[in-house]
Amino acid sequence: MQSIKAAVCHAFNAPLVIEDVLLDAPAAGQVEVEIDAVAICHSDISYQQGGFGGHLPAVYGHEAAGRITAIGTGVAAEYAVGDSVCVTLVRSCGHCPSCYSGHLSTCETPRDNTMGPLKTKDGDAVLQAMSCGAFAEKVVVDQSQIVKIPADLGKDVASVISCGVITGVGASVLAANLRVGQDVVVIGAGGVGLNAIQGARIAGARRIVAVDLMDEKLEIAREFGATDAVSAKAAKPWREVKAILGRGADAVLVTVGVAQVYDQAPRYLAPSGNVVMVGMPHGDQLTTFSPLNMADAGQGFIGSKMGNMVIKRDIPWIIDLYKQGRLKLDELISGRWRLDQINEAIADTLGGAAKRNVIIFDR
Ligand SMILES: [Zn+2]
Ligand SMILES: [Zn+2]
Repeated sequence: MQSIKAAVCHAFNAPLVIEDVLLDAPAAGQVEVEIDAVAICHSDISYQQGGFGGHLPAVYGHEAAGRITAIGTGVAAEYAVGDSVCVTLVRSCGHCPSCYSGHLSTCETPRDNTMGPLKTKDGDAVLQAMSCGAFAEKVVVDQSQIVKIPADLGKDVASVISCGVITGVGASVLAANLRVGQDVVVIGAGGVGLNAIQGARIAGARRIVAVDLMDEKLEIAREFGATDAVSAKAAKPWREVKAILGRGADAVLVTVGVAQVYDQAPRYLAPSGNVVMVGMPHGDQLTTFSPLNMADAGQGFIGSKMGNMVIKRDIPWIIDLYKQGRLKLDELISGRWRLDQINEAIADTLGGAAKRNVIIFDR
């Protein structure tokens, strides 16, 4: 057990507190990773706001990269101290029905993250949120959650791969299962939405229409591959989208966690199209839709958690695309902060203009 600095949530909707917490040594099948960079995702903020519930105190943060500093027993021989890795929340047992079918992000083996490796200095349980707890100098995670990456890949770039990039690209390429020539609408042009746009481009979409409230984000969306942009401030933006496409879209990717946006999403669809559910509203928000209209048009909803990515298979191709210049990653990072600035970084993310804010650990 060692003492590390972490940003701890003691009360929902209150600032995180930088303090020392205790971290267990890695148990069987686990690795310890010293974090070099961790990005702020909207899910971290929703947790901090109490929108997803959960035990307190807690350490959030799940979009991270660093280097392995210790290894538990029984860890695969491919991992060694010093290896650079992405750290994700995708913890998978490898032997449940979801894992057997390749859906690692919906692994069905229950786990209690309040019994994880974190404790207060007084020995009380600290929730290792999302199996990561990466707003901290170090994490101890299951070996299923890490992916080896080249040592020369920037850790800031690597951190955003660990959630925002795989969630967005995977939503288009894997969850929506786009075919070349299909038309796509991406609602929300933030960190995940921009990657859904990149994924649609890689998948060979014909038109990619970005929809967002902020004009500057629509401009950025074009830089990431959107062919068209429509302001969500319009009374009925789906009418503008249908005018552009000549019909509805084959896939509508909702990348914002707002229930009213889900209410409207089917309006953008073509017959047989699907709404892909990426953004996660708070747990008390509900949506409504017309089962008659959707069933009659052969439409549906598809859930997409972490882009349905098989991380050890798919993060290497994400890195290849980046190295080949076919996937923008550096441009996703709009701010770099220290751990003791995390509350300012969260406030900046809530302001809506940021793409990804990343906490950098300079040592
Ligand atoms: Zn995330
Ligand atoms: Zn499993």
